[in-house]
Amino acid sequence: MPVSFDLTGKTAIVTGANTGLGQAIAVALAGAGADVALVGRSSMAETEAAVSAAGGRSLSIRADLSTLEPIDRVIKETLAWTGRADILVNNAGIIRRADAIDFTEADWDAVMDVNLKTVFFLSQAFARQLITGGKSGKIINIASLLSFQGGIRIPSYTASKSGLAGLTRLLACEWAGKGINVNAIAPGYFSTNNTEALRNDPDRNAAILGRIPAGHWGEPEELGGAAVFLASPASDYIHGIVLPVDGGWLAR
Ligand code: NAD
Repeated sequence: MPVSFDLTGKTAIVTGANTGLGQAIAVALAGAGADVALVGRSSMAETEAAVSAAGGRSLSIRADLSTLEPIDRVIKETLAWTGRADILVNNAGIIRRADAIDFTEADWDAVMDVNLKTVFFLSQAFARQLITGGKSGKIINIASLLSFQGGIRIPSYTASKSGLAGLTRLLACEWAGKGINVNAIAPGYFSTNNTEALRNDPDRNAAILGRIPAGHWGEPEELGGAAVFLASPASDYIHGIVLPVDGGWLAR
């Protein structure tokens, strides 16, 4: 059997698909043949156009993932669209910056809710429909270098992304035997809204760039290959990994 990265006939759900890494992942999955349900709280027009330009089909689902309210709706609307949901990419995430000594409960809860709580319960709803239907599937969590490192001034973000690495491993252990691959991608430093504050700070920008062996901030498109790989049959025996896509940052 030749190695296959083909996603033709599969349906993927990508959260936070309106911009940044989620948009690039949605376009990459569509380019590999998947139909893509784009989930997010704002307009998906740009991503819809990019998916279409890549030769794919998309369905946009408005959902604020700071609560569990939209979870059943996301799964139901996807199933009503193509009759299936094979791939879930938990990409939506937020970050709040402040010194740990001043960090507020509101900034703690907001980040944990989107980055960890909703990810768990959406994964649970996604896995339930697979297991009930006797189907296999793929979950890809978007982790972070802060799944491995401490960082500074982002306590809830580091806690959520370190927790997400652990959750990825736990779900892999419970669901590998049911035909569901659960893995994560840990992006390094990519040019998106999420990192705008860092790129605008000349000192932090220079320090970060100086540590990246590849010598540049990642472009969102540079994440697509890892997402297609972990969504495809080529990764069927891979469970519970956190795959860094970081220009070599962690190798330093
Ligand atoms: P971004 O801010 O451009 O995108 C975040 C996405 O999450 C947006 O689509 C946003 O609408 C969505 N989102 C946030 N809160 C939401 C909510 N309540 N309901 C629905 N959608 C919501 O940032 P990005 O860099 O593209 O981040 C995507 C993911 O990658 C995040 O999980 C982030 O933590 C992670 N990440 C990014 C980097 C980086 O360098 N950019 C590095 C490591 C990890």
